[in-house]
Amino acid sequence: MALYTTDLLILGSGPAGYTAGIYAARAGLKTIIVSGNQEGGQLTMTNSIENFPGFEEISGFELMDKMKQQALKLGVEFVNDNIVEVDFSNRPFVCSSENGHSFKARAVIVATGSSAKWLNLSSEKKFLGYGVSACATCDGFFYRGRTVAVIGGGNSAAAEALYLASLADKVILVHRRRQLRADKILQDRILNNKKIVVEWDCVVDEILGEDNPLKVTGIKLRNVENDNVKTIALDGVFIAVGHQPNTDIFRGNLPLDSKGYIITHENSSKTDVEGVFAAGDVKDPKYKQAVISAGSGAMAAMDAIEFLDDN
Ligand code: NAP
Repeated sequence: MALYTTDLLILGSGPAGYTAGIYAARAGLKTIIVSGNQEGGQLTMTNSIENFPGFEEISGFELMDKMKQQALKLGVEFVNDNIVEVDFSNRPFVCSSENGHSFKARAVIVATGSSAKWLNLSSEKKFLGYGVSACATCDGFFYRGRTVAVIGGGNSAAAEALYLASLADKVILVHRRRQLRADKILQDRILNNKKIVVEWDCVVDEILGEDNPLKVTGIKLRNVENDNVKTIALDGVFIAVGHQPNTDIFRGNLPLDSKGYIITHENSSKTDVEGVFAAGDVKDPKYKQAVISAGSGAMAAMDAIEFLDDN
């Protein structure tokens, strides 16, 4: 158990956290990044990124590793741990970690990102890791030559379906409406991919499977327009129905909106607590792009630098 003391503590190691670290270190601040429970954040689960300027195509893992190496080279200290409690009532702020470490900081940037949402079916929980997944990059390999379903109609679902189509025999994209939310370029790729079939206007009522050994064998779909129910045989189900902000530990410490996103002042990363800033998906209910998170991290670092100069 250690006590770390720093000018700036950054919570989270996605594009917002690393970019904030790069800016803060270049401004001469002693800066520590605490990784969170998924080093590199959600992007590390993305197989291919084609919209981060400067990289025509790069894997999420590689992009995040490049950001980390850049931050480390500039002198940012990296601690692989997860903050579980914060005290923002007095300065220096105190944050405590899962591994029992304490961090005292003159300023904090919260860049804890968001996590995948689930359908909240009991069968989904039962088969999690046994045919149910939220990460095609992590688990797609097991479905070579098989049939899988992807649930959702946004960019994540589209990207997962396209990736899985490169491995599986057949991909069934299940969307609850008749229009995908995903970007037009991804919609076109989905509709032109012979391995992908879209089940429009459908929701998953149940994930079906066997107990011994535990495995998924199908899904029960309900058409929301006419209530017709049908069963489809398949081997795996990938859930991609959106994300929620990782803000549980800030409840009562920082103002959150009705969906749990951190509220910041207009055109700023400042929260209502002087010296605590927020960046990236944790404060962004709308855009959630790697490049926007990176920009938001830069903004938070600049706000923190100004705050520390003044205090
Ligand atoms: P999203 O855009 O919020 O899409 C979630 C999808 O899941 C929607 O189509 C939604 O349906 C559906 N859905 C939500 N709850 C459901 C439920 N209970 N049952 C069935 N379907 C449900 O989330 P996302 O795809 O995770 O993307 C999050 C953000 O990351 C977005 O801003 C996205 O642009 C960004 N992102 C970008 C890329 C990229 O390459 N540019 C890749 C991945 C993610 P409705 O459409 O009916 O609401």
